[in-house]
Amino acid sequence: MTDTARPTRIRVDLDALTHNLRVLRAAASVPVMGVVKANAYGHGLVPVARHLQAQGIEQLGVAFLEEGVALRRAGITLPILVMGGIFGPQAAELIREDLEITVSSIDKLRQVEAAAEALGRKATIHLKIDTGMERIGVHSYRAGPFIEAAVASRWCTVKGVYSHLACSDEPDSPMTARQLGRFLEACAHFDRLGVPMPIRHLANSGGVLNFPDTCLDLVRPGIALYGVLPDPDSRTALDLRPVMSLVSQVVYFKVVPAGQPVSYGATWAPKVDTRMVTIPIGYGDGFPRALSSRGEVLVRGVRLPIAGRICMDQFMADLGPGGTGYNEDEVVLIGHQDGQAIRCEDVARAAATIPYEILVGLNTRIPREYLGGAPASA
Ligand SMILES: *Cc1c(COP(=O)(O)O)cnc(C)c1O
Repeated sequence: MTDTARPTRIRVDLDALTHNLRVLRAAASVPVMGVVKANAYGHGLVPVARHLQAQGIEQLGVAFLEEGVALRRAGITLPILVMGGIFGPQAAELIREDLEITVSSIDKLRQVEAAAEALGRKATIHLKIDTGMERIGVHSYRAGPFIEAAVASRWCTVKGVYSHLACSDEPDSPMTARQLGRFLEACAHFDRLGVPMPIRHLANSGGVLNFPDTCLDLVRPGIALYGVLPDPDSRTALDLRPVMSLVSQVVYFKVVPAGQPVSYGATWAPKVDTRMVTIPIGYGDGFPRALSSRGEVLVRGVRLPIAGRICMDQFMADLGPGGTGYNEDEVVLIGHQDGQAIRCEDVARAAATIPYEILVGLNTRIPREYLGGAPASA
């Protein structure tokens, strides 16, 4: 960091990413598609993808064409599946960029075929089966003709067949077993047609953590790769390590008299004279305004409550009447300090949301700093 740089930053621990990949690979016992959509869950698309590639991950998954193109521009050579629904006019670019395409209906199949034929280049596709999410994909009970059309296609190579779990973060939900059953029934059409089974994939992070049967031929973890659990209430026996920390520094210190309201809306006031610090990060960085008077931060190893509303670029935290904090003290918003920790899951709970939304909300106004990342030993 240069002396004039903004002290607020996201620290990305690439060694923790390596560790989590190893842990998930061992738990699933199958190849891994690392999901790096939404700026690698806020960790930085290209640096995370480069690191995962260096660690020998088999494949990457993104949501949109643009994310796949950004990875190709950065020199990523791994297979990349674009998991989102595609628009017909995007098909040609997907093929030209050597991106694997999610085909979620017979109409989309025809669009991809037409684009492939026009380019004189085969498309690599994954068939999307809807087993209960009702998002994109052909309903499992109608998959027969869809699969038949795809395997008969001269311009499409069916590399994979997949579906997505709706309730895998709930270990007791019967939904996952139901979805797995429907998925396997749909896959049976390949056997019926006497063609080789493509790569079957179903498990997101929740699948890997809670439902080993769903791991099949490949797993698609996103959030767990980053060492974060899908829900504030999730539990796991796996030793996952948080990859992201979010830190800042105290930019101002003052004493606020009892009863004197703090921040917009004058919604909070100390009951006694108290010491307060101002921290230069706000909802303009994606630090949720929902944490107003609810979240906590660490200064000098002490948990301080966020006091009053979070502003666009700053917020205040209460040291208490006897608390200590100085200008330029490190502030931890997510991560460890002196034996105390604030996890992304804690932040999500305080903001009444899920950890995903916290991670991906942190925007590009916050500089990312990458630590570790020496190549894995064989
Ligand atoms: C986002 C996504 C994933 C990864 O989900 P996590 O819950 O973060 O593991 C996997 N598959 C699909 C289709 C997705 O959209």
